[in-house]
Amino acid sequence: MNDKEKTLDGFEELTYINHSPDTLTYIWFHLWPNAYKNDRTALSDQLLENGNTKFYFEDKEQRGYINRLNFKVNGSTATIEEHPKYIDMVKLVLPAPLLPSQQILISTPFHVKLPFNFSRGGYDNQTFQLTQWYPKPAVYDAAGWHPMPYLDQGEFYSEFGSFDVRITVPKAYIVAATGELQNRDEIRLLRSRSRKYIADSLYNDTATSSATPPISNNTGTKTLEYKQSNIHDFAWFANKGFIVNYDTCKLSSGKIIDVYTYFTWIQKNIWKKSVQYCKDAIRFYSTEVGEYPYPIVSAVQGPESFGGGMEYPTITVISPAALAKDLDVTLTHEIGHNWFYGLLGSNEREHPWMDEGMNSFYEYKYAYKKYGDKNGELELLFDTKAKRRTDQPIETPAQQFSPINYEVVAYHKTVKWMQLLQQTVGKPSFQQTMHQYFEQWKFKHPQPRDFETVFSQSAPIKLDTVFNYLHTTGFLPNQQRHGWKILTPFTPKVLKSYIDNPSKNLLIATPLLGANGYDKLMPGVIVTNYKLPPSDFQFLLTPMNATGSKRLTGLGKLNYTFYPASFIRMTTLFVNAATFSMDQYTDTTGASTFLQFKKIVPGVRFTFKEKDPRSTVKQFIQWKTYFIKEQSLHFATDTSIRGLDTTLTPYHSLQNNNRWLNQLQWVYDNDRALYPFNITLQIEEAKDFVRPAFTANYFFNYAEEGGLSVRFFAGKFIYTNGKTIKKQLDTDRYQLSLSGPKGYEDYTYSDYFIGRNEYNGWLSQQMMVRDGAFKVRTDLLSSQVGKTDNWLMAANFNTTLPDKINPLSLLPLKIPVHLFADIGTYAEAWQANAETDHFLFDAGLHIPLLSETINLYIPVFYSKVYSNYYKSTIPKNRLLRAISFSINLNNKFFKKANNELEF
Ligand SMILES: [Zn+2]
Repeated sequence: MNDKEKTLDGFEELTYINHSPDTLTYIWFHLWPNAYKNDRTALSDQLLENGNTKFYFEDKEQRGYINRLNFKVNGSTATIEEHPKYIDMVKLVLPAPLLPSQQILISTPFHVKLPFNFSRGGYDNQTFQLTQWYPKPAVYDAAGWHPMPYLDQGEFYSEFGSFDVRITVPKAYIVAATGELQNRDEIRLLRSRSRKYIADSLYNDTATSSATPPISNNTGTKTLEYKQSNIHDFAWFANKGFIVNYDTCKLSSGKIIDVYTYFTWIQKNIWKKSVQYCKDAIRFYSTEVGEYPYPIVSAVQGPESFGGGMEYPTITVISPAALAKDLDVTLTHEIGHNWFYGLLGSNEREHPWMDEGMNSFYEYKYAYKKYGDKNGELELLFDTKAKRRTDQPIETPAQQFSPINYEVVAYHKTVKWMQLLQQTVGKPSFQQTMHQYFEQWKFKHPQPRDFETVFSQSAPIKLDTVFNYLHTTGFLPNQQRHGWKILTPFTPKVLKSYIDNPSKNLLIATPLLGANGYDKLMPGVIVTNYKLPPSDFQFLLTPMNATGSKRLTGLGKLNYTFYPASFIRMTTLFVNAATFSMDQYTDTTGASTFLQFKKIVPGVRFTFKEKDPRSTVKQFIQWKTYFIKEQSLHFATDTSIRGLDTTLTPYHSLQNNNRWLNQLQWVYDNDRALYPFNITLQIEEAKDFVRPAFTANYFFNYAEEGGLSVRFFAGKFIYTNGKTIKKQLDTDRYQLSLSGPKGYEDYTYSDYFIGRNEYNGWLSQQMMVRDGAFKVRTDLLSSQVGKTDNWLMAANFNTTLPDKINPLSLLPLKIPVHLFADIGTYAEAWQANAETDHFLFDAGLHIPLLSETINLYIPVFYSKVYSNYYKSTIPKNRLLRAISFSINLNNKFFKKANNELEF
C-alpha cells in the first residue's frame, strides 16, 4: 500500500478447484475497484437513483480503478473478455477446459487506485478501508455463473477458500484484517498498545497525554501475514491512530477465541466496552445459531464518510457511533453476519432477506433483551408502505428494492416473518431447526428452498402458508393492529407509547395556537386521527377561538381512501373546509367589522400506480369544486334613520356572496436526485370564464451543492360566451398576473396570508408564487402591471450561491442567499398602444428561511414600468418597501416526506 498515492500494488495467486459436476471453459472475475472508475458504472447509476449525487459530481482524483492485470493459467497467459455492460466484471477464458474435480493455478498482478470511501471501501484522509480490492472469482453453482457488478444497495455471493495474505504497509500504520495475524512481533505490538492504553488510564477523561501512543521506530515498511480458511472474502483496515483493545472470549464449548477492537481517540468513550460487546455478540449467536468456528473476531472503527456498519469474515467495520448502545447493537448486527453472510454464504444479492433479514431477527432479539428496543419506527414505516400499496415482497433481489423498502422489507419485514415462523413452529423447535439449518448448510451457499426444506422436514405441521408470505406484499398476520388509543400531550412518553405499541385506531387531541392579522391569536385544539400508517378514513379538525374577531375559526379535512387493483393505485375522496377572517374595517368610531370567508371543497384524487417501485415518479389527477361564501362591505348614505337631520351619515353593511370554482389538475412529479422536475396542468372554471394553466419546474444540480431552479408558466384566460365589460370587472381577481399576486387574488383561499387584504404596512408585502410569479408588486395600482385577461407566459430563475461568496453564511445560523430573475410577457404588451415593453423582468436577492417556508425577495433590477411605479408611489424607504415575502407551508421538507409516505 502506498499511502501517499492511495494505491495498492498486488500479486494474486489462486488455486481454483472445480467442485461442480460440469466442465468449465471460463471463469467470471469481479474487478470491483472499477465500479469507481467513471460515472457510467452500475454503482454510479444506483447511487444516483438512490438520491446520492456525491460520487457523480466528485473530482476525478477521488475515483478509483484496477489495472495492470496479466492473467495466467498454469503459467501461460490467458485471454480476457470484457463484459458487454459492466467494466467491473471480466470473463477469464481458460486455455483448456477445467474438468470436474480438477484444479488450475490462476495468477495476476494488479494495481488499484483507491477511491475516496463513497460506499464501503477506499480512503478517507490517512485512513484506509481495503474492501472489495482484489480480482475475485464469481460463484458457479447449480444455477450456473453469478457475476454481479458492485453495488451500494445489494451485497455479495462469493466462493469459499483458504486465504494467505501478505500486506506491506508503512510501519506507522496499525492494520486490522480478516483472519489470524502470523507475525509474533506485531501481535506483541498490538497487545502492548492495548495494555499501554489501559495503563495510561486513557479511559480517564482527564488524561492529557497525546491522543494515541506513537509507534516507536516507525520508518520504513513492514509486511504482515494473515491466514484464514473457510472464508469467502478478505478485508483490511489501516490507520496510524488506532487504539487497540484485546481480550479472549470463552464459548460454552470451552473454545477460546481472540477478540480485538480498533478505534481512534475521538471514539474512545463510546468504544470503552467494545471488547465486551463483541464477546456478548459472539456468545449470543453461538447459542442461538451455532458455534463460531474461527479463532478470532475483530471490530474496527471506520471514518465518518462510511455510514453505518459493514461485515467481512472475522472482521467488521463501523462508522463513528453517537451512543455506546448504538455501537453495541450495530456491532452485534455486523458480527452476526459472520453466520449468515459469512458461514452460510447465501446469495445476498438475489435473496437479501436470507442474510440481512435473518440476521436482523437475531439483532432485534439481542437489542430487546439488553435494552428493551422494539424498532417500532421501522414497523410504522413498513405499515405505511404496505397500507399505501408501495411495499414489495420479501423475496426480491436487492437491486430491485426501493431504498426505503430495502430497509423496511428485506430487513424489517423479514424479522416479523421469522417471528411468525418461530411462533408457528414453537420456540424450542425453531431454535433447534435453525441450528440444524446452520450445521447442514454452513460453507455451502443455501438457497431459499434449502431453508424451507429444513423447516418443512422438522415441523410437524405444513408451513406452506408461512413460506408463501415471502412472495406477497402487505401485512403478515402478526402485524395486524387492534383497538384504540388516545394521545394527548398529557399521555406519558406520548410518541413512544404509540410507536412501541401501535393500535389500529388513534385519536390525537392537542392544543394549538393559530394566528393571522385579523383573527389575531387563535387558541384552539387539533382533533385528528392522522397517523402512520394512515387509516382509510381520516379526519382533522382545528376549532379555534379567534381573539381578534371573536369568532370561531378553523379548518377541517375528511377523506376516505381505497385501493383499486388497477393502474390507479389509490383513490381518495375528500372534503376540506375552512373559515377565517380575511379583512377588517374600522369605522370612524373605532368599531371594527371583520369580514369572513367560509369554504367547503369536495374532491377526488386518483394516484397512478408507479410502473416500478424504484421509480421516483408520482402522478395524480385531482378534481376539486370550491364552494366559497365571502363577506363584503357595502357603503351607503342613509337619510331615513336620522329623519330630519340634514347631515348624511355613511352607513355600512355586510353582504354575503356565494361563488364556486371547479379545478381539474394533472400533476407529474419526478423527484429524482439529479435534475428533478414536475409539471402541473390545471384547468379552472367558474362563472364567465375558463382558465387553463401550465406550470413546469426543473432543477439543475450544481456539482458542489445547490443548483438552479427554473420555472416556466403559461396560462390563458377565456371568457365563456364572450367578453363584456361587466365580466371583465367581475373576474378581476381570477385574471392572470405577472406581478406578485396578493391575498385577494388567492381566490381559492389556498395560501396562508397573514394580512390577506392589507394595502399598507409590512403585511401588504406578502405575495404568492403563482402565475408570472414576479417578486415586484404593484398593488397600489387599480390595474396592476402585467395583469391580463388573455394570455401570459413567464420564466423564473433561482440559483443558490456557494458559501464562499455568500456573506450571510458567516453568521452563526448560516443563512442562505439565492439570486432570482424573472422574465415574462403577456397579450397586452404586444398591442399597438402597449404601455410596457414586450418583455418585463425583475431580479434580485432571495433569502429562504426554514427550508424555504418563509422567503424574502429583495428586487434590485426591474423593468422601467416598475421603477416608475416605485418612484411615484413609494417616496421613501423604497428598497425596504419593495421587499416581498411569501409563506409556503408545503415546504421542501414536507413535500419530500409526503412524496415518500403519502400520509
Ligand atoms: Zn447487515
